[in-house]
Amino acid sequence: MIKSIGVIGAGQMGGGIAHVAALAGFDVKLSDVNNDALKKAVETIGHNIDRQVQRGKVTEADKSAALGRIATGTDYAQFSDCDVVIEAATENETVKRDIFKKLVPHLKPAAIIATNTSSISITRLAASTDRPGRFIGMHFMNPVPLMQLVELIRGIATEEDTFKLVRDLAVKLGKTPAVAEDFPAFIVNRILLPMINEAVYTLYEGVGSVTAIDTAMKLGANHPMGPLELADFIGLDTCIAVMHVLYEGLSDSKYRPCPLLVKYVEAGWLGRKTKRGFYDYSTDTPVPTR
Ligand code: NAD
Repeated sequence: MIKSIGVIGAGQMGGGIAHVAALAGFDVKLSDVNNDALKKAVETIGHNIDRQVQRGKVTEADKSAALGRIATGTDYAQFSDCDVVIEAATENETVKRDIFKKLVPHLKPAAIIATNTSSISITRLAASTDRPGRFIGMHFMNPVPLMQLVELIRGIATEEDTFKLVRDLAVKLGKTPAVAEDFPAFIVNRILLPMINEAVYTLYEGVGSVTAIDTAMKLGANHPMGPLELADFIGLDTCIAVMHVLYEGLSDSKYRPCPLLVKYVEAGWLGRKTKRGFYDYSTDTPVPTR
């Protein structure tokens, strides 16, 4: 029975996971290397639950109870009573391996580790822990409180009991699970990220402007967001990390990251989170940067 959930990484995904877990009645331990990220995450969670209160989805009492269930800290010892720890730190294999190394000495033997990685091999990450059988991919979508899907990815060693517990947890969090095999970027990002990368090539080659590309895909393919708007929303660092995993993992040149995407990331223009990407977010209405 899962009661207490740890979340490592308090960025847009970790904050969202803490939000849905606390509202669903779980005790949440949220951690980050950066104290400011923790402070900002709790503020954002409060602000996002306010919007749910305004829409009549939850009550003020639900909000204060949920916020009261979230504890924050930078210390791994806080995970000692967690039944599941969900890792949602930066999409970088070295960072994630280092986190697991520091985490496992503090965990209960039966605790499950889930990773929210968008693309990295679950089997390989699991092998860097002391419990490959109790390790699984639990890939939430952004923004977590609004998006229905959770991809569940078993590594080669993932035990059936781990899978069932995490599948039931996803349902308790109000999500619908879809099972993906452990191949680079799983299902959603295997399809979505090459499309985004192609949109950046379309911009790079001058086929269309930012506005033309996003308008074309919204009105022509009925997508709720244009691909460049979506790239900014995901984070261009995450987008490029997923393209690298596809390129290297599948050894196919069709997955090479567009040089313009590389340049934006090198400039530190990572999208909404840095207030500049394919759009400039420093004013109320986003302004295309090309
Ligand atoms: P983000 O940049 O918003 O947040 C990452 C957080 O991790 C930051 O607050 C950073 O301080 C923290 N962090 C870095 N190193 C750490 C460490 N050693 N210990 C603890 N915290 C650390 O990124 P994000 O968009 O929230 O992505 C996080 C994970 O979720 C990645 O694996 C990403 O691939 C995955 N993901 C992202 C999306 C998306 O749309 N952005 C969707 C699904 C999954």
